[in-house]
Amino acid sequence: MNEPERVEALVVGGGPAGLAVGMLLSQAGVETVVCERRSFPVEKPCGEGIMPSGVAHLRQLGIEAFLAPDTYARFYGIRYFTNGGLATGRFAEGPGWGMTRTTLSNAMYRRALAEPRLSVLENVRVAGIERSQGRWVVGLCTGKTFWVRLLIGADGLHSPVRRWAGLSGPMGPRRRWGLRRHFRMRPWSEYVEVYWGGGVEAYITPCGPNCVDVAFLWDEDQKREDDDAVGFDTFLRRFPALGTLLLPGEPLDTVRGAGPLWQTVRSPVADGVMLVGDAAGYIDAITGEGISLALAQTQALTDTAVSALKTTKDMPPVALLQPYARACRQIGRPYRLMTRSLLAISRHPRIADRIVDLLAHGPDVFQTLLSINMGYLPTPSRVAVSLARLVWKARKESEK
Ligand SMILES: Cc1cc2nc3c(=O)[nH]c(=O)nc-3n(C[C@H](O)[C@H](O)[C@H](O)COP(=O)(O)OP(=O)(O)OC[C@H]3O[C@@H](n4cnc5c(N)ncnc54)[C@H](O)[C@@H]3O)c2cc1C
Repeated sequence: MNEPERVEALVVGGGPAGLAVGMLLSQAGVETVVCERRSFPVEKPCGEGIMPSGVAHLRQLGIEAFLAPDTYARFYGIRYFTNGGLATGRFAEGPGWGMTRTTLSNAMYRRALAEPRLSVLENVRVAGIERSQGRWVVGLCTGKTFWVRLLIGADGLHSPVRRWAGLSGPMGPRRRWGLRRHFRMRPWSEYVEVYWGGGVEAYITPCGPNCVDVAFLWDEDQKREDDDAVGFDTFLRRFPALGTLLLPGEPLDTVRGAGPLWQTVRSPVADGVMLVGDAAGYIDAITGEGISLALAQTQALTDTAVSALKTTKDMPPVALLQPYARACRQIGRPYRLMTRSLLAISRHPRIADRIVDLLAHGPDVFQTLLSINMGYLPTPSRVAVSLARLVWKARKESEK
């Protein structure tokens, strides 16, 4: 075996979470290596709507300078469609960004290369870890090894680091999956559109002047008798209006899928190990928060990591990493609440219909809910005003 190379921190995974953590640690003075098993730009099935909170983090990292204006689209809120209704919620915090994962990955990768204390390795799979002399020995598929004080698992939904560190929790209670495909066509909406179909939803995101992303999320037990196979075309047939809108579009790529989405974690930290992004636990993509949540965690991870690495010469014991575990719980609270609520509604088309009807009468309430979902706490007066408007409109409606 080759002599291990010494490095302070090694990040497994070069997705949005891994690259952001790499950049932030480098900026904080920590020599860091990011290992990505694929080549950049990295593709991944995703709905590709980055919420305004995520946009704020990407701007802070300086990603915008690496994005050509014609490679992404701005979207201004979320529009829900049910069988009988339509409701639009506009973001109070400015637009989100719709962009393909390869566009995001390309911009983040090029930005990361400018960091002086960061090395980003592509086409290298981290194959295993071993504990030795108060550090982690991290083995790559190439045979190379690193001797690291801090190992960061940013390796996605089925995180190997989570498994190696014994941090995986029990299976999530719902088994849901996702599929996505891009179409070459001019986006017809400046919103991310969500079509509710009782156990299956369709998500349409404008991703550029000539690109639309179509994603489906569905419950494993939602396969119908008349479905020949679970697949993109089967699901599209359940949304005839959407099918018509997509008719002028030309498929740009093959269908990609991911799941089961609900992955639980006992803790995002262990001795010398920190998990971030999907690796730190994930429920569902129903609120489109995954990238933003991952980016929100990265600053908290960096703060804890930097202080822990200063306190000890070896790998930081789990006790020193607990502030990050607490921050993770706090950052994820609104996401967990909204996601679980929407998941409960998603199986009941009639309830979804009623709620969309209610939101249609209260765009302010919808806007407030979108803010809460992103972790922005609205002022009590904003909540009171939006509720008052909703009640007033509902009254007027019932008088008609
Ligand atoms: C269908 C679907 C729709 C979604 N829609 C949205 C949306 O609209 N908006 C949103 O914000 N989020 C959405 N999400 C969620 C979002 O895609 C994830 O939350 C986000 O990608 C998490 O980023 P990450 O960096 O944690 O993980 P990933 O993006 O999965 O990155 C992990 C990286 O680790 C690498 N890796 C894994 N194992 C190893 C190894 N052993 N060695 C080296 N590298 C390794 C992988 O190759 C990968 O590049 C959606 C997800 C799905 C499935």
